[in-house]
Amino acid sequence: MTHTAASKPILKLMNVGKSFHKQVVLKNIHLTVQRGEVTVILGPSGCGKSTLLRCLNGLELIDEGSIRFNELELTPKGRQWQAVRERIGMVFQSYHLFPHMKVIDNILLGPLKVQKRSKAEALAQAEELLERIGLLDKRDSYPRELSGGQQQRIAIVRALCMNPEVMLFDEVTAALDPEMVKEVLEVMLQLAREGMTMIIVTHEMGFARAVADRIVFMDKGSIIEQGNPKSFFSEPQTDRAKRFLQQFY
Ligand code: ADP
Ligand code: MG
Repeated sequence: MTHTAASKPILKLMNVGKSFHKQVVLKNIHLTVQRGEVTVILGPSGCGKSTLLRCLNGLELIDEGSIRFNELELTPKGRQWQAVRERIGMVFQSYHLFPHMKVIDNILLGPLKVQKRSKAEALAQAEELLERIGLLDKRDSYPRELSGGQQQRIAIVRALCMNPEVMLFDEVTAALDPEMVKEVLEVMLQLAREGMTMIIVTHEMGFARAVADRIVFMDKGSIIEQGNPKSFFSEPQTDRAKRFLQQFY
């Protein structure tokens, strides 16, 4: 989670804007993410957090500005998005596992069908990842046979098995029963410790504080404050951030 000032950012957003019909949802977004850095995005419902993540892996196209991913310049009309989507993994609030497929087949789908990797090699990686989160014994189960927390951990493994360079997490514990939240956050903390570059949207403030290298606070489509977690949580600079934090304490 450390980096020198000279290191090249893995992601750089410059003046990114996005509207749906006539509603401006993102405006003047400038954001730089270093390799290995954990960025947590906070902000009230509807402020554009999900849209921002979706723009980062091409699920939504930006209208304005540009996004640089490593050396790739992604302009609004650029065609490089398919390649990017494979290298930036995303996990959502609802797990999106295919119900008719076993856990292992859910995980192998991308590596085999999209990345055209060999079955033996992908399988070995999938099993190693399952082992690491303690779910190797669920390899041949169907999603409905698993708890919500287990399904979400499988969804994380499924994204990791594509060997992404960045992982995006959009409120991945919001739909879980409280007792399952911890096991999912634990997996994410572990990933952060291993040096994964992560951008996380969450309403778990304790977790945000523990995992983040940087907090980005959004309101009404703009980033209005960013800084290290210690100063953000103890001395938020804007009234909007203060009001936002008050609802949690
Ligand atoms: P957040 O994740 O912070 O709650 P979102 O990014 O989901 O916010 O939404 C930001 C705004 O964009 C909201 O007003 C939402 O209604 C609108 N929005 C999101 N997705 C779409 C879409 N596909 N079409 C139209 N409006 C959308
Ligand atoms: Mg959202």
